[in-house]
Amino acid sequence: MNDILPDETPHWRRLEQVVCRLLNSYGYGEIRLPLVEHTELFKRSIGEVTDIVEKEMYSFDDRNGESLTLRPEGTAGCVRAAIQQGLLTVPQRLWYAGPMFRYERPQKGRQRQFHQIGVEALGVASVEMDAELILLCARLWRRLGLAGSVELQINSIGSSAARRAYRAALVEYLSAHRAALDEDSQRRLDSNPLRILDSKNPDTQALLDAAPVLADYLDAEARDDFDRLRELLTAAGVAFVVNPRLVRGLDYYNKTVFEFVTERLGAQGTVCAGGRYDNLVEQLGGKSTPAVGFAMGMERLVLLMLETGAAGDAAPAQADVYAVAVGEDAHREALAAVEAVRDSLPGLAIVQHTGGGSFKSQLKRADKSGASVALIWGEDEVRAQSVTVKFLRDGAGQGDKTGQRSVPRDQLEATLRAAFAD
Ligand code: ATP
Ligand code: MG
Repeated sequence: MNDILPDETPHWRRLEQVVCRLLNSYGYGEIRLPLVEHTELFKRSIGEVTDIVEKEMYSFDDRNGESLTLRPEGTAGCVRAAIQQGLLTVPQRLWYAGPMFRYERPQKGRQRQFHQIGVEALGVASVEMDAELILLCARLWRRLGLAGSVELQINSIGSSAARRAYRAALVEYLSAHRAALDEDSQRRLDSNPLRILDSKNPDTQALLDAAPVLADYLDAEARDDFDRLRELLTAAGVAFVVNPRLVRGLDYYNKTVFEFVTERLGAQGTVCAGGRYDNLVEQLGGKSTPAVGFAMGMERLVLLMLETGAAGDAAPAQADVYAVAVGEDAHREALAAVEAVRDSLPGLAIVQHTGGGSFKSQLKRADKSGASVALIWGEDEVRAQSVTVKFLRDGAGQGDKTGQRSVPRDQLEATLRAAFAD
């Protein structure tokens, strides 16, 4: 579980702001959900034999002996809330952002506490909704400067009946080659054989080249929807590749599944993943409601922004003005004057030096702070009811305003206003 430090948070904030504005513009409303849910909710939605439920959940008994779990993902809680709060009378476009928890082996792009932005569209069965979500993602990558770094992969996994039939065929094929499978895949052959399809093992992948393909088992409706999705994406100019082995690791998906992947982050290449889940609402006790959604991993997106240079110079918060004061009287004057400046110029970032020290040492700090102006109070300034304004940098919008001058106390705001006019 990572600390995110001030030199990184500006990138997070930019990501959040861009996403928030974009989702607003598509008519999505933000929902804020608890970090903890009943363990049962995740077992019933994600599925008992998935990686998450089998070995990744942080579960504990509360003081009443009820089993609770730190949310490993957001869809289950979002659907739970939609049912409980009576949101399902009309279609809902919802989004949320926040930490998720999975007990995984930590590595670059994989944490035990990580952050997702999730988007869920509840109540619309037509595949146009799937397309809307994908277009929205594509626009997001453009806004973030990541469009050239991610590839869209899509697939259809059909109805649960289609998957059952396919599963039987796949198990039959792979059972004949059981000895050639790695240990993980052998275990999955009994519990969750479809997961073998996204095995990273090259031998397993080679074996799968001759395996039955899911596309041959799709019912007509799923096939039509998938054709239509490809037509919609093509018409909108969104490039994609069909990945027939894309199945997703959670039980609740059907029909459309998609991922945006990058080659820039090593093994943790999926930055955004989602799909349709038409049966989940009913399965969790709500009225039958079609749905589709996705989640993106914020750590991976920030890494990708940094890796590709798309992060730009979203610099950490910097001071515009650094206030220096030597002596008790001077410090008192400075504090009051700086407060008055904060009143009239609320956009200015002013750091007040604290902890004493000589003019020289305080001005050194002023320089390090990145501020372009230092305000200086000493005995002389207190006596004269003035303040020394020292311009610390030339160029960069300062024109010839380098050097320093004494300004009467009551002209400080006007001086700063002029200095930071641009
Ligand atoms: P992976 O195959 O990488 O484990 P997943 O299929 O388990 O991903 P999802 O449950 O679909 O992931 O979550 C959606 C997105 O959340 C992922 O594509 C990824 O960007 C991010 N994500 C998932 N797990 C982690 C993690 N442990 N650390 C960081 N990001 C994660
Ligand atoms: Mg995972």
